[in-house]
Amino acid sequence: MSNYHIKHLEEYYQVYRKSVRNPEGFWEEIAEEHFIWRKKWDNVLEWDFSKPEVKWFQGAQLNITENCIDRHLPTRRNKTAILFEPNDPKEEALHITYGQLFEKVCKMANVLKANGVKKGDRVCIYLPMIPELTYAVLACARIGAIHSVVFAGFSSNALATRINDSDCKMVITSDGSFRGSKSIDLKGIVDKALEDCPGVNTVLVAKRTKSDIEMVEGRDKWLAPLMAEASADCDAETMNAEDPLFILYTSGSTGKPKGMVHTCGGYMVYTAYTFKNIFQYREEDVYWCTADIGWITGHSYIVYGPLANGATSIMFEGVPSYPDFGRFWEVVEKHKVNQFYTAPTAIRALAKENLDYLEKYDLSSLKVLGSVGEPINEEAWHWYNNNVGKKKSPIVDTWWQTETGGIMISPIPYVTPTTPTFATLPFIGIQPALMDEEGKEIKGNQVEGRLCIKFPWPSIARTIWGNHERYRDTYFSAYKDMYFTGDGANRDAVGYYRITGRVDDVIIVSGHNLGTAPIEDAINEHQAVAESAIVGFPHDVKGNALYGYVILKETGESRDRDNVRNEINQQITELIGPIAKLDKIQFVSGLPKTRSGKIMRRILRKIASNDTSNLGDTSTLLNPEIVKEIMDNVL
Ligand code: ATP
Ligand code: MG
Repeated sequence: MSNYHIKHLEEYYQVYRKSVRNPEGFWEEIAEEHFIWRKKWDNVLEWDFSKPEVKWFQGAQLNITENCIDRHLPTRRNKTAILFEPNDPKEEALHITYGQLFEKVCKMANVLKANGVKKGDRVCIYLPMIPELTYAVLACARIGAIHSVVFAGFSSNALATRINDSDCKMVITSDGSFRGSKSIDLKGIVDKALEDCPGVNTVLVAKRTKSDIEMVEGRDKWLAPLMAEASADCDAETMNAEDPLFILYTSGSTGKPKGMVHTCGGYMVYTAYTFKNIFQYREEDVYWCTADIGWITGHSYIVYGPLANGATSIMFEGVPSYPDFGRFWEVVEKHKVNQFYTAPTAIRALAKENLDYLEKYDLSSLKVLGSVGEPINEEAWHWYNNNVGKKKSPIVDTWWQTETGGIMISPIPYVTPTTPTFATLPFIGIQPALMDEEGKEIKGNQVEGRLCIKFPWPSIARTIWGNHERYRDTYFSAYKDMYFTGDGANRDAVGYYRITGRVDDVIIVSGHNLGTAPIEDAINEHQAVAESAIVGFPHDVKGNALYGYVILKETGESRDRDNVRNEINQQITELIGPIAKLDKIQFVSGLPKTRSGKIMRRILRKIASNDTSNLGDTSTLLNPEIVKEIMDNVL
């Protein structure tokens, strides 16, 4: 099992060097030793970033579900594959074994086939975090249909756009969904969306909320009776390594969503290998990623990566605040969770609450803590480390994107010494580069630039569905022969990477490029501050000046606002320098966020610049109501 499970830092450097010197040889060895192929590849890698074209394991044949399910049956038939934890803690958790998962996936695959779905067809999955979502994803993969999961918090409009963009012929949904104390009429949203989607001829409906819904004759079918009748055996379709596995739309922080296409072979190899190492997963562990399967994090690190390793992966239907702010910790105690993977937005929200919610529970099972989605600010990092990890569980701050398919820069726990706010070192096989604005690579350490990747890795997205030109323009045109991530980063004295935010969000103040993350980090260090976002606005002298939106902690609410403003700027001066001081500070009760919990600076920038005539579509926001409050109080 050479190279598969890295256990100390020397080994990391050694394997890393090997993976960079001879990437083809390295990935061939991993692919050969740890996966089942129906036919081996003719060629490990063919690539040309100028086209752009990337092909891994050309000529190979496989089915990813055989690797995620079938091959575990002889040894793990009765091991829990998916541990379903419902929204309501009083409802019993479901332990779905590998044996049961096999049966359900085969049944659902047969239902899809019976309803006319064929290899290469697109199927839209718009389901809450219930077991049927995992079955649906894997059933598509089993028969070679391309799944397009749309997060079930999106509006009918957003859903329709995504269905039409990829010409889905079927939608799989449920009557409704539970989210905390609320119940949401999902089927109603689908019905509304489908008014604009002439290509959809079948809707399969899972039963969850048992609410009264309308079924359109000839189009809508209840899933359960069909599954009950279907055969529990379904041969896995033979797929080429480069056949599309799924389409997933990026979360849309920066504009029109892009349907990223991932393929079967490389995606499987890379997500499995990263999962094993970055979570240091061992056979008996219980792993929990709190993301929704509607995002790439859920695809790669709830479903495919864990199942390819025969892991037990928790699927959580609920929210961190229901029935109270102790829910995450209650679940950790209840299922003795070993690896816990969440987002900075959740950590910050929980850190605002009383510690009693957390201290009631036994968190001693935890061995690894993960973070993904945004830069994690220093205060949140320490809160996570001190209170959740009790300073014993390393934090893996994992930087990656929908486009990258898997984690790209991250510590390996118990291997890489961590530094707060640093994603640290490139993962095995990943060759990052920092570029300057003239297109030259910035070598050496203690430098800052635009983050690019020089060489393909197995799970890089192959195209944007139906728009290869946009794929080239977005990722491969800024720098010759490089994949451009859109993010800025710096590299410190020991070669650790810190992501400073999106390049689009960089603010040029008096000729200095300022990234958002380090400044927000400094603001959040203030004891009265819960969260913050900064943007630039036009300034006669400096070109741009900084505008800060700040949420106070409950304990900070009673403080004199001007004092807090002064202290925040003092803090920035100390930690970064006077250049980064804020000209305006507006206190707000919330920040506009995407459905995946990321701050939408695009909207804040417009408000700060008094340019609110065209805010764009705010309906896809998590909290559209906050926009008006912020506009009403703008400085
Ligand atoms: P869109 O591309 O549509 O604007 P998005 O970029 O938010 O949406 P994702 O692919 O889900 O969609 O997010 C990837 C981005 O999230 C990264 O490019 C980076 O900006 C940010 N990110 C993710 N993880 C981290 C991390 N650990 N540290 C810093 N930033 C992160
Ligand atoms: Mg992006």
